[in-house]
Amino acid sequence: MSSMKTNVYRDPVLGKELIQAIKKQAKIFQEKNGRKVNLMEVCGTHTVSVSKAGLRDVFRDDIELISGPGCPVCVTSHEDIDYMIELAKQPEVIICTFGDMMRVPGSHSSLAEEKANGHDIRVLYSPLEALDIAEEQPDKKVIFLAVGFETTTPAIAATIDMAEKREIDNYYVFTVHKICPPVVELLFNDPKLKIDGLLLPGHVSAIVGRKALDFIATEFKVPSSIAGFEPLDVLAGMYDIIRMLNQGEAKVTNQYLRVVTEEGNKAALDMIAKYFEAASSNWRGIGSIEGSGLVLKPEYQKYDARNLYDITIPESSNTRGCRCGEVLSGHIKPTDCGHFGRSCTPVSPVGPCMVSYEGTCATYFKYERKV
Ligand code: SF4
Ligand code: SF4
Repeated sequence: MSSMKTNVYRDPVLGKELIQAIKKQAKIFQEKNGRKVNLMEVCGTHTVSVSKAGLRDVFRDDIELISGPGCPVCVTSHEDIDYMIELAKQPEVIICTFGDMMRVPGSHSSLAEEKANGHDIRVLYSPLEALDIAEEQPDKKVIFLAVGFETTTPAIAATIDMAEKREIDNYYVFTVHKICPPVVELLFNDPKLKIDGLLLPGHVSAIVGRKALDFIATEFKVPSSIAGFEPLDVLAGMYDIIRMLNQGEAKVTNQYLRVVTEEGNKAALDMIAKYFEAASSNWRGIGSIEGSGLVLKPEYQKYDARNLYDITIPESSNTRGCRCGEVLSGHIKPTDCGHFGRSCTPVSPVGPCMVSYEGTCATYFKYERKV
């Protein structure tokens, strides 16, 4: 997108008009319901956009903006991190990962610490690089740590597709992929949260398509909007949601038409469906949720790193009183955690929410810390 086009989505005049319109709608809601409207931004990129644009402050008296479980790095469970670490310790293994996994704490260590201990752990920009490493080092087992939502899964599926075509038989994936709908359902059913509306992630929607998210409106009667990540995108989505609430409507609107279609990206969805199927998955601080993960189909089990070794992980435990689970499920704000900004900072993170660029605690630390 050209910078001129980007500027349109940051236009301050339009922004002010939208803010006034949202405040007006939020006031109507407050008068009707005797409380502020609760909106959850599901995705970590939205949390960054909201915080960076100062929107939490702008709507302090009107809207409760709750950050949700939108960062796959943050929601990866202790057990899975511990398993990755045990895999990294196997002598013939090369672990390949994206950079933000390196410092996420497991129960007793992190991948960064294990790399410092001499294990072969490499940070890649594309999972396809892992295939080249596997081809160059046939005596090694190359394992890609497959972490992410619907946005990253097609790229991982593509590596398996290539491994098949290039007949690479020492490439494996350790999949902790997550899918959004089941966790969204869980949050709706939580009486403590009272979510009135959802701001839905633009990039996940670009893959799955708007229609796939219609269930939020039809089943749960919660108005929602798919939004992009510029300030005006976010504001337009917020306006849609509160207007619908006041009018007693529940739909999933699309405020990211320049990227998200009704049906999604068919090629990417086909690639996922060819190699993966839904299974239960363990979310940090939330627990196991049925159907919320993606695992390799039975016919592609030879690529599954979980089948390589008989690994027993030491008992997993929460990291030194970290409250990431409550932050991820929207029950507390980062600033409610005793570690925030004291013993836990981006330089010295206690929990994953402070590690990842899109982690809620890291975002609050960067943009919302009152000093
Ligand atoms: S990985 Fe994607 S969905 Fe998750 S927080 Fe980052 S941008 Fe949002
Ligand atoms: S401030 Fe640190 S310890 Fe507390 S919830 Fe956030 S990441 Fe976890």
